[in-house]
Amino acid sequence: MTHPPPLDLALVGGGLQNGLIALAVLAARPTARIALFERGPRLGGNHTWCFHQGDLDAAQAAWVDPLVAHRWPNYDVAFTGYRRALASPYACVTAERLDEVVRARLAAAPGAELYTDTEVVALGPGRLAFRRGGGVQSVRAHTVVDARGPDRARGVGGWQKFVGIELELTAPHGLTTPLLMDATVEQVDGSRFVYVLPLGPRRLLVEDTCFSESPALDGPRLLAQARAYVAARGWKVAAELREERGVLPLYWQTAVTPPAQGLISAGYQGGWFHPVTGYSFPPAARLAAAIGRAIADDTDPAAAVAALVPEHERQLRFAMRLVWMMFKWFPPERRIGVLEHFYRLPDDTIRRFYGLASTTADRTRMFLGRPPRGLSLRAMIAAAAPPASPLTEATS
Ligand SMILES: Cc1cc2nc3c(=O)[nH]c(=O)nc-3n(C[C@H](O)[C@H](O)[C@H](O)COP(=O)(O)OP(=O)(O)OC[C@H]3O[C@@H](n4cnc5c(N)ncnc54)[C@H](O)[C@@H]3O)c2cc1C
Repeated sequence: MTHPPPLDLALVGGGLQNGLIALAVLAARPTARIALFERGPRLGGNHTWCFHQGDLDAAQAAWVDPLVAHRWPNYDVAFTGYRRALASPYACVTAERLDEVVRARLAAAPGAELYTDTEVVALGPGRLAFRRGGGVQSVRAHTVVDARGPDRARGVGGWQKFVGIELELTAPHGLTTPLLMDATVEQVDGSRFVYVLPLGPRRLLVEDTCFSESPALDGPRLLAQARAYVAARGWKVAAELREERGVLPLYWQTAVTPPAQGLISAGYQGGWFHPVTGYSFPPAARLAAAIGRAIADDTDPAAAVAALVPEHERQLRFAMRLVWMMFKWFPPERRIGVLEHFYRLPDDTIRRFYGLASTTADRTRMFLGRPPRGLSLRAMIAAAAPPASPLTEATS
């Protein structure tokens, strides 16, 4: 009996990370033999992913661009007594667009296959088993990429929780740029802000967000707060089109799962996300680009990902210390002051921080100047240093 030759790549989980990997690989080598397995009926779930356009290089932008549903040349933030426009182009990818574009790209590629409604029940280096219909089947691949989404429970410092509603208004809202953080609202459950994306002349995504100690999401309360915010802005709602919710863990202690030959742990699953924001678009794009280049050059994708690990861990280490500071040094009602302090930094420092690409100068800048309101020396000393992170020993 002959076995089919192994695939180049088997991608487990049809979310953001593997969607980007599929696009990067097929852009680099259109004949690559890949299969993408997703347990749900569609790719991408129910998300809107935003990122700073400057986080992508030209090669990455070429395969990310078809996913972009909206883009803006700049964005605003607002705090009590302080408002600012940031000159960083901002873009947004919708799950609907991810599903449409990745599905079409896989269908057009001669060596690619998509399995939706398919649960992967076991995986390891170079192999996986999946359940489809009644039976379990197995597949071999040179490399399996495990991107099954967030499941890490250890090392969580706090939570970013949000409920968003996409709205069609009865009249134009007049916004031309996103309001990434409107922190002029009442502070509830930690620090609270509202995030507003103008998706069309009458269309808005409004998210009520908080940084909290607890993962419990009081959906009805956040939804009511979002609706009250819309009403207070004088916007009249013609229809509520969609709702999205998130409880993103913010880590003071996490580490990348090291890639091994035949198995890469990627996306949230592998530690490729921002510990302060819970966002993962920029590292996901970097990792996808590295795998794409390796497939095009016939080199080992796991080695290509391993080469990204030291810099990613350096960025993680810095960001995790900020999570520690935010949740241990500052009482909940003062955390908004930390964000206000951060948003007084130069545009590029802010963008690079979100993109997990901070330079040494950026890091220094973040700790210079007047300390944020509410920073208490006594509290700092009492909290002392964060307990040793797995990365503290790994890199200096
Ligand atoms: C509502 C929301 C909004 C967000 N907004 C942003 C944002 O604006 N910008 C940003 O950078 N980040 C954002 N994030 C954070 C982060 O980017 C996302 O969580 C991102 O989707 C993580 O990508 P991923 O591919 O690792 O996991 P996911 O996108 O969660 O994908 C994992 C996929 O694996 C599938 N799966 C799991 N187990 C199996 C299995 N056994 N077999 C087959 N399939 C399986 C799941 O069904 C899922 O589709 C957001 C998160 C949420 C929840």
